[in-house]
Amino acid sequence: MTKPAAYDDNNIFAKILRGEIPSHRIYEDQHTVAFMDVMPQAPGHVLVVPKAPSRNILDADPATLAHAITVVQKVAKALEEVFDADGVFIAQFNEPAAGQTVFHLHFHVIPRHEGVALKPHSGKMEDGAVLAANAEKIRAALARSSS
Ligand code: 5GP
Repeated sequence: MTKPAAYDDNNIFAKILRGEIPSHRIYEDQHTVAFMDVMPQAPGHVLVVPKAPSRNILDADPATLAHAITVVQKVAKALEEVFDADGVFIAQFNEPAAGQTVFHLHFHVIPRHEGVALKPHSGKMEDGAVLAANAEKIRAALARSSS
């Protein structure tokens, strides 16, 4: 494999983390932010994004990964409840050959229903009001689970 490019802090998720670009946030802690994917592959598609800069799993600090997966679990449980999901799909791509398009480490967390196919990756932009309504429901479920 040719050596990947260095981390670029002008990527879209770095801008979202710095608050330079809006997002529908559903969770934040000291190390991690989670927000709605603007081109969801199914309703409720969330991205869990560590704050520490890394392109992907290949250059990430293991401690960052260890914490992030606990947030992925929290979000997966909330999505299962809110969307009455039959299952939850977790995906994470590393470098363009593997399908990665945004070069700041992130995990896709997507509710799945029996017999319903996923929409294409980075396909159609969702209506902002739909994303806002889904984000509100997920935030409420996360608040219930932590109380
Ligand atoms: P990757 O291909 O890198 O695994 O996934 C990048 C994801 O980011 C895609 O699912 C895409 O829909 C999503 N995405 C791209 N641009 C934006 C954006 O500006 N805001 C949000 N919330 N999601 C984005």
